[in-house]
Amino acid sequence: MKIVTILGARPQFIKAGSVSREFTKFDKFKEVIVHTGQHYDTNMSDVFFDEMKIPKPDYFLGIGGKSHGAMTGQMIEKIEEVLLSEKPDWVLVYGDTNSTLAGAIAASKLHIKVAHIEAGLRSFNMRMPEEVNRILTDRISSILFCPTQTAVDNLQSEGVDKWNTQIELSGDVMQDGAIFYRGLAKKPSGIVAGNEFILSTIHRAENTDSEERLTGIVESLNEIAEQVEVILPLHPRTKIKLESLPVKLSSKVKLIDPVGYLNMVWLIDNCKLVMTDSGGLQKEAFFFEKPCITLRDETEWVELVEHNFNTLVGANKAAIISTFKGHVFSNNFSIDLYGKGLASNNIANALLNYEK
Ligand code: UDP
Repeated sequence: MKIVTILGARPQFIKAGSVSREFTKFDKFKEVIVHTGQHYDTNMSDVFFDEMKIPKPDYFLGIGGKSHGAMTGQMIEKIEEVLLSEKPDWVLVYGDTNSTLAGAIAASKLHIKVAHIEAGLRSFNMRMPEEVNRILTDRISSILFCPTQTAVDNLQSEGVDKWNTQIELSGDVMQDGAIFYRGLAKKPSGIVAGNEFILSTIHRAENTDSEERLTGIVESLNEIAEQVEVILPLHPRTKIKLESLPVKLSSKVKLIDPVGYLNMVWLIDNCKLVMTDSGGLQKEAFFFEKPCITLRDETEWVELVEHNFNTLVGANKAAIISTFKGHVFSNNFSIDLYGKGLASNNIANALLNYEK
């Protein structure tokens, strides 16, 4: 079974770390990896392939740093060329980026089956580029791998039963990764072990592209950093936006360059609390039994909020500070929300057994 996997952005490399490793355990898969170039810096891309032993991309398309339309359009064109020459049985796409949508469109127009990992997630906020990408990708996929029951329910309420699409509750491949990589965690250089700290990341366009929201987050982190160390691995997009923001991050917030996954796992495993607008990190906080304050107004990972492992605060300073000071989180982390680390295996088996 020949699979062309489309990767482009950091969270996709991390998910592929688990799924591509699983494929190599079966002798029936031949995986061809296409890297679109959406994230291309060494610390946003190469480090993951090196550390996580993801097979090197067979194709690098070099399409990054463009507007949504230009990026998606150019990716469709280049991916189509790859698919015409590779003639795969499946195109595998992850998550909700422009690379996801471009891969799904290129494949479906050539009548190549699309498998979507992380299908069915919804924020119900159509202003998020990710929401548009995931809805459209789900609609043209042949098999939808849902990480949660909520994702299955979302698809059912959109009428998936009428789409001639197979739907699988596979569990979440990030849970597989958390289990596998935990033992390989590495302390980032320059971080002192044993110190209490909060781990924060900010990169969602809804925060970085709004001066009001970014100001609320910066002022909150500055105030919190007076009490406890805040470590912030800085996404390149956020770095650019912070440079032109009138309010500056205080020197007490420890800014570091984006780190590789093994460093990131160490940070999550050793922090006291996560404050983030990342989708993946909200779940990783749960996998590593850490409470999470989410700097967004909605989340796709609603089960974390329902069970009080996570609380949504948006980007308003007063709300962030009062949640930081007063919210009491659940610590009953034994509940199974994302499968038991078997998602990649479920996905490989479902692809091999697919009949249509
Ligand atoms: N991550 C990382 N290094 C960093 C920041 C994040 O390895 O410096 C990981 C993080 O642990 C998670 C993934 O990147 O697994 C999340 O990616 P991101 O927040 O960019 O995307 P999202 O999950 O919001 O789509």
